[in-house]
Amino acid sequence: MKVILAEYAGFCFGVKRAINTAQKAAAKAKGKIYTYGPLIHNPQVVQKFEKAGVHAVSNIKKVGKGASLVIRTHGVPPETEKEFARKALNIVDATCPFVKKAQKLAAGLEHEGYQTVIIGEAHHPEVKGILGYTGNKAVVIGSSAEAHKIKKCGKIGVVVQTTQSMDKFLKIVSLLMDKAPEIRVFNTICDATKKRQESALKLAGKVDIMIVVGGKNSANTKHLAELCEERGVPTYHIEGALELKKSWFTGKKVAGVTAGASTPDWIIKTVIKTINAPA
Ligand code: SF4
Repeated sequence: MKVILAEYAGFCFGVKRAINTAQKAAAKAKGKIYTYGPLIHNPQVVQKFEKAGVHAVSNIKKVGKGASLVIRTHGVPPETEKEFARKALNIVDATCPFVKKAQKLAAGLEHEGYQTVIIGEAHHPEVKGILGYTGNKAVVIGSSAEAHKIKKCGKIGVVVQTTQSMDKFLKIVSLLMDKAPEIRVFNTICDATKKRQESALKLAGKVDIMIVVGGKNSANTKHLAELCEERGVPTYHIEGALELKKSWFTGKKVAGVTAGASTPDWIIKTVIKTINAPA
């Protein structure tokens, strides 16, 4: 079996930065150290941090005063930051600069009187954070059907979750054009996402099967798998080599591998090695 790895796959700039930041903070921390939610959407990396004494918490009531708390790449709403400050926590901010940019643009649109629209997944922490920067006044839409439901108004401002697919973004924006005479659109899809999506699509066009590696709860990994599927190639989304099934590869000559922005290199390498292992 020939295996080709996508030109851009695996850890992005924001994830590498968050991991380095958390490691340095853990080395320096005098008291307990936590991450607000899992640091990245990858269970293996989160387990490694747990073993090193950096625990993920979803409720800061469990965090004692003065402890260190790492904010992950997705960021948090301003009211959550204030809550951290009230608890006198030592905050280590690993919010990705691309996410910060989307937060700032959304806040600016709201301030300038636009009906802000966030294109993305309403339940995703990044989207919740951006929404917070609009005073929770923005509308979140995740599909064309939801775009149709937007009420007509004077002016609409748009930002998009950093890991959305360009296709979906463009489709929804074109539907919004009908909703207001003035539309201001910021394409806040990050560069790492764009590159991973483009190279996955390119690869999917020339292989018999695509294996997409990454956390099942990782938005950008899920979008990579959706894109490859839409391209018409049999696609499997796995978190690690143990999930690979020999039957998937029967009759196939070339396999493509790609991975989400929160998938470590060693997991990608193990997957490639396992596909290549003799039957
Ligand atoms: S996927 Fe993009 S926005 Fe998310 S952490 Fe990576 S670089 Fe930042």
